[in-house]
Amino acid sequence: MKIGIIGLGLIGGSLGLDLRQRGYQVFGVSRSSQTCEIAKERGVVDEGSVDLAILKETELIYIATPISAIAPTLEKLLPYLAPETIVTDVGSVKEEIVRTCSELWPNFVGGHPMAGNIQQGIEAAQLNLFAQAPYVITPIKTTPIAAQEKVGAIASSLNSKVYYCTPENHDQAVAWISHLPVMISANLIASCIQETDSEVLELAQKIASSGFRDTSRVGGGNVELGVMMARYNRSSLLSCLKQYRANLEQLSDYLETGNWSEITKILQETQQSRPNFTS
Ligand code: NAP
Repeated sequence: MKIGIIGLGLIGGSLGLDLRQRGYQVFGVSRSSQTCEIAKERGVVDEGSVDLAILKETELIYIATPISAIAPTLEKLLPYLAPETIVTDVGSVKEEIVRTCSELWPNFVGGHPMAGNIQQGIEAAQLNLFAQAPYVITPIKTTPIAAQEKVGAIASSLNSKVYYCTPENHDQAVAWISHLPVMISANLIASCIQETDSEVLELAQKIASSGFRDTSRVGGGNVELGVMMARYNRSSLLSCLKQYRANLEQLSDYLETGNWSEITKILQETQQSRPNFTS
């Protein structure tokens, strides 16, 4: 089977490595011929080009560009698509992309491989990036079943755990477990550096250890990715932040009044609930 990948970065490049290892013939499109060369050398693609025409004979195409470029890339791709070609994407936010892209191409399937790291570009591509990680497929009423199944079957062959849900449920769920944590973690760092006593601030920086490292990690990462989350998942993120703010206010009230039993109850509940998200 011939597969196309547009955008040979961390996700697109890693897909290429995995798909070639499973015997698919991979055609890659990058904006730079130098990236095409590196992709060939690293075994990410069989053929690479800066021209979308190279994808004419492919049966399935992954768009692995930044979120803002996914729909515009599909628009440019339309003249090269055969009616049965399946197009999918890997964007981290789904509702707007799936709506726009399904209107442009009926055989479009929204997808989100939930694997990655803070590195970017072709050099960051790695084998087995998607193994044991969730791969969420987000069909809508008009998405052809055969196309959903094809994208799901390939994701399973990468050893991903495949889940199906609506784009809206996907966006609300990732707002809770991915986008809200980034904003809270960033806000934690922002609040700490507002300490006005320089001696205290310096001491805090020196003695910060594993707890601070864990809770600040996602807030000190890729700025562009964080802005994309806020921009493209704005309403879901806002609804999560509203609930979070209400919870914080309640916690402040309990602290002010010394209501230790309510604070104990909250911490008991969170201690019990955490494994439901992490195991
Ligand atoms: P990346 O390493 O920066 O790769 C994106 C690639 O897209 C670039 O290497 C570039 O490839 C191409 N590109 C950049 N700007 C473009 C533009 N304006 N028009 C067309 N192509 C452009 O980023 P990534 O982490 O792979 O992210 C790609 C997608 O995966 C995003 O939609 C993101 O939401 C999603 N995603 C990311 C992660 C993660 O943890 N990083 C996880 C899951 C999903 P060329 O230079 O070859 O053109």
